[in-house]
Amino acid sequence: MAFYEYNESNQRVLFGEDSLSKLPSELAKLGCSKPLILTTPTKTSYVDDVAELLNGQIAGSFTRVTMHTPKEVTEEALEHSKSVDADCFVSIGGGSAVGLGKALFVRTGLPHICIPTTYAGSEMTPIVGQTENRIKVTHVDRKAIPAVVIYDVKLTLTLPTDISATSGLNAMAHAVEALYAQDANPITSVFAIKGIQTLASSLPQIMNNPKDIAARSDALLGAWLCGKCLAGASVSLHHKLCHVLGGTFNLPHAETHAIILPHALAYIAPSIPNVMKELAESIPNSDGNAVNGLNRLVSKLGITYSLKDLGMKAEDIELAVETLLKKPFWSPRQIESDAIRELLKRAWEGKPA
Ligand code: NAD
Repeated sequence: MAFYEYNESNQRVLFGEDSLSKLPSELAKLGCSKPLILTTPTKTSYVDDVAELLNGQIAGSFTRVTMHTPKEVTEEALEHSKSVDADCFVSIGGGSAVGLGKALFVRTGLPHICIPTTYAGSEMTPIVGQTENRIKVTHVDRKAIPAVVIYDVKLTLTLPTDISATSGLNAMAHAVEALYAQDANPITSVFAIKGIQTLASSLPQIMNNPKDIAARSDALLGAWLCGKCLAGASVSLHHKLCHVLGGTFNLPHAETHAIILPHALAYIAPSIPNVMKELAESIPNSDGNAVNGLNRLVSKLGITYSLKDLGMKAEDIELAVETLLKKPFWSPRQIESDAIRELLKRAWEGKPA
């Protein structure tokens, strides 16, 4: 039996409908009474909801959360938290709000409760991101895994179908890469297969009926499992490529992941026959080929746009290849510049993988 390592966290997770109502008791358990609420500008209503639930007992709010955790936004939020004497952070929203909560934890050591409302999965991971001078860097800090996560399915009912689709595919990408990671292990692989199956079946149902609470529940569970995969195994071509595309060309996070997922898998496929077999059995309509299954899923979820449509220029492809090759990483299939250029061309033109 091969040696493997799996890092567990002592995070507490609450899951269900109306589980937001558990927030007051969770704060009390942590000995906190002055939370700073973090959310995005379009979801300031969350601050009112949380303040009402806590009978107005909040230190304040910071609603200028921005994608990719820009350093200046984190510093602004940090100053604000000091000025209102916050004793913990409650992030409510997608991966951007969660990311700010983690960045503030790293700077202050104050407890962080997360209430995720998309499927990005950041709440499960020790990965802390920061963008400075248009360059995004990430580091791993196991202490930054949020102390408490409250998954309230009802909060996801308002997530628009387009964001549900891209964010769900972002989550699936965490799981797909965990299956062929250098440090893949039986624990993350179990999470990965269940996460992929759950999202692949629930996301199309959500497209038909965004208020389908059973499908929403499955998708949120899938996102949790996929987030555990990102925390438990290292990433390869798919995430490295998306990191370059997001960081260098400022392409939107989840949409980029949604486009790249089938292409990255198609590239790696010849080197991972066993994983491809497992994936084909887990993704509906694969007909024995998981890349076909993903192509069909992506198109069913309405991802009909390309990297070009996201604003990438044709000449950026070369720079993307160069940037990817500058920082070598482990991959089951050797990273060859010509083949990566071809992969990017297809994704740029919007061709199936
Ligand atoms: P996001 O957090 O920026 O949210 C996208 C949009 O959806 C926002 O406008 C937000 O207000 C809105 N929204 C969120 N929940 C909603 C709801 N329930 N109803 C209606 N609108 C809602 O995007 P995201 O894709 O969730 O997260 C992306 C960010 O997370 C990126 O910065 C990415 O790097 C980071 N991320 C980090 C990790 C990690 O492990 N560190 C993992 C995944 C993603």
